[in-house]
Amino acid sequence: MASCKIPGEQGRTFTNWASTFTCKPELYFEPTTTEEIIQIVNEARRLSKRVKVCGYGHSPSDIACTDGYMIDMRRFNQLINIDEKNCTVKVQSGCLLKDLIDDVLEPHGMAMQNIASISDVTIAGVICTGTHGTGANYGILSTQVLEIELITAAGEEVTCSHTENTDLFRAACCSLGALGVITAVTLQCEPAFKLHQRQQPCTLDEVLDNLDEHISSSEHFVLYWMPHTESVIMCRNDRTNEQVSDVSSWFWNTFVGYHCFQFAYWLSSFFPSSVGFINRTFFYLLFSKPLERINISRNLFNFAKGFPQYVTDWAIPREQTPTVLRELRTWLRENPNEAAHFCIEVRFCQGDNIMISPAYGRDTCFINIIVYRPYGKLIPYANYWAAYENIVKRVGGRPHWAKAHQETGKELADLYPEWDKFCEIRQKMDPQGMFLNEYLERVLCMDNGATGNA
Ligand SMILES: Cc1cc2nc3c(=O)[nH]c(=O)nc-3n(C[C@H](O)[C@H](O)[C@H](O)COP(=O)(O)OP(=O)(O)OC[C@H]3O[C@@H](n4cnc5c(N)ncnc54)[C@H](O)[C@@H]3O)c2cc1C
Repeated sequence: MASCKIPGEQGRTFTNWASTFTCKPELYFEPTTTEEIIQIVNEARRLSKRVKVCGYGHSPSDIACTDGYMIDMRRFNQLINIDEKNCTVKVQSGCLLKDLIDDVLEPHGMAMQNIASISDVTIAGVICTGTHGTGANYGILSTQVLEIELITAAGEEVTCSHTENTDLFRAACCSLGALGVITAVTLQCEPAFKLHQRQQPCTLDEVLDNLDEHISSSEHFVLYWMPHTESVIMCRNDRTNEQVSDVSSWFWNTFVGYHCFQFAYWLSSFFPSSVGFINRTFFYLLFSKPLERINISRNLFNFAKGFPQYVTDWAIPREQTPTVLRELRTWLRENPNEAAHFCIEVRFCQGDNIMISPAYGRDTCFINIIVYRPYGKLIPYANYWAAYENIVKRVGGRPHWAKAHQETGKELADLYPEWDKFCEIRQKMDPQGMFLNEYLERVLCMDNGATGNA
């Protein structure tokens, strides 16, 4: 067998965006062609090496880490085909959403139906982790996918879609990178649109008492709750034909805002009981008045990343949202010194049939909690995490795959009706476990140490 012609780099360190996980791959590759990827995979198989593909390294967990071969897909990012008539686009898998939206879709008068709160992530990274935005009638981002091409551990190219290799497709739409190297993705888009955003301050109880009504009052409803306070911001985004009138940008978009925010939380690390006061002050300064604005969709779906943070985001059955948020509020009242930073982001998604999607089979609410690391300072978050996880697990919560969680296959298997089927497909696609890493061994591992039901 011919040896790998594309040179791998030694001594490279991979660190995720939030600097919460780091690893030293044995060899690091940045391929630009499918042939190069096949060569790397063939070489890895010949030498019994493990392979991990990474997108833009924005997952807050160790999902993209490896000490084997790392294939960085950032340079594998070209447009393959755009079809204006049917509003579809096919791109190489390392394409960043922001490049796809700004440089490809927008000039063709197209847009993605719904996106997450950031766009500097690759299309494959988004698909692999079940990334979501908000909107009760919109699924996770993978539900916009029409076709996926991947390279298996055997070095073979496989295509799957709603009509071809359909089970593989339902697995590949949220695969954690465990099925092979995704090389191309075809997406259903829609004509470019503007959003009318309305932000309205109110109290948590006001929203929870009529939650279904609020959710259905908008195409993309999201709730931002200031922990340790009763204050929330209801944010509605709806399609409009009105002219752009963006009156303000988020405070932390600005240099001063970014540092005020960071400095306040840094200071609070010496006086933990001040977090509630800080959250209340931010709310008063920034959100206590209703706000309306109109802009192109990406500008309002996305907002600034802020600074490095610990986050966890669990998917619960939508009808459990009031119970969970009220229980969390009770816990926060009893623990005023816990660093619960703003905001708790509450989003809604339609259920789907993607095998291990967090929204599988049920309309879902995602609740994202956050603890920042101001100026890199580690602020204790374990108690807050444990309390939150206890609450969501009691109602069948499923963790966001990209975000930090410690669940293992033992706990996860029962939460997904098609778990065994996913594991069978994974075993068939990758019998030697080439695409596994520590994270995947943990989440796919059953009692007997075997991965899935293999
Ligand atoms: C500030 C911030 C905001 C965020 N906001 C949201 C949000 O609003 N909603 C939400 O749901 N998530 C959100 N996320 C999480 C984010 O969407 C996911 O972590 C996403 O996976 C990151 O994409 P990436 O390209 O960086 O992938 P990476 O982190 O590099 O990789 C993620 C996974 O995808 C696999 N993978 C990547 N490319 C390929 C490929 N070509 N073939 C096979 N496997 C591949 C990797 O192996 C890994 O398992 C946020 C993250 C951050 C840091």
